[in-house]
Amino acid sequence: MGEDKQARILFTAEEIKSRLAEMVGRIENDYRNKDLVVVAVLKGSVLFLADLVRGFSRPLAFDFIGVSSYGHSRTSLGVVNLEKEISLDIRGKDVLVVDDILDSGRTLGWVKEHLHKFAPRSVKICVLLEKEAGRVIEVKADYVGFTIPDVFIYGYGLDYRDRYRHLPYIAQLGDDEVPPGEVVDE
Ligand code: 5GP
Ligand code: MG
Repeated sequence: MGEDKQARILFTAEEIKSRLAEMVGRIENDYRNKDLVVVAVLKGSVLFLADLVRGFSRPLAFDFIGVSSYGHSRTSLGVVNLEKEISLDIRGKDVLVVDDILDSGRTLGWVKEHLHKFAPRSVKICVLLEKEAGRVIEVKADYVGFTIPDVFIYGYGLDYRDRYRHLPYIAQLGDDEVPPGEVVDE
């Protein structure tokens, strides 16, 4: 089923790569002389994090926070649960939270408030993608790779039912579509 279908690619690996280079330039400039700790939100940010930090020429530290809010549903469930706490001491540090996508704002709103409890010097947000019309909670990202309409996307860290995170590109799915290669029970 669907073997001859093509993924509907929204951003190719090359487009992502060149946008990341621009983002790194801006971030590095803003964090000159600062003690940068990148806190990446598991699991969607992992490919983005790896490609982003590779572009930095100055020292930085990175850490992970694990939260769940999405489950298998295509729309946010609205409850944020801490699954993995950070392990670095971020007191007095300049923290940059890195995530795949800002949608309702619940995840990043919660993460930002949570990290403030550790008394960092600053907390800013960097996302690869932002859904323009998604915000339920008022959260602003300081660095945004691409702004997209309200469509379901997968690949480059983002999953479809826990799979396809490994894809080097970002693809889009219609309401009744599944990724090419996905086996559908009928
Ligand atoms: P928010 O809490 O802002 O509503 O949602 C953020 C999280 O929802 C993201 O980190 C991501 O895990 C998930 N999410 C939002 N939109 C999409 C999407 O189009 N595709 C996938 N796979 N996950 C999404
Ligand atoms: Mg996520």
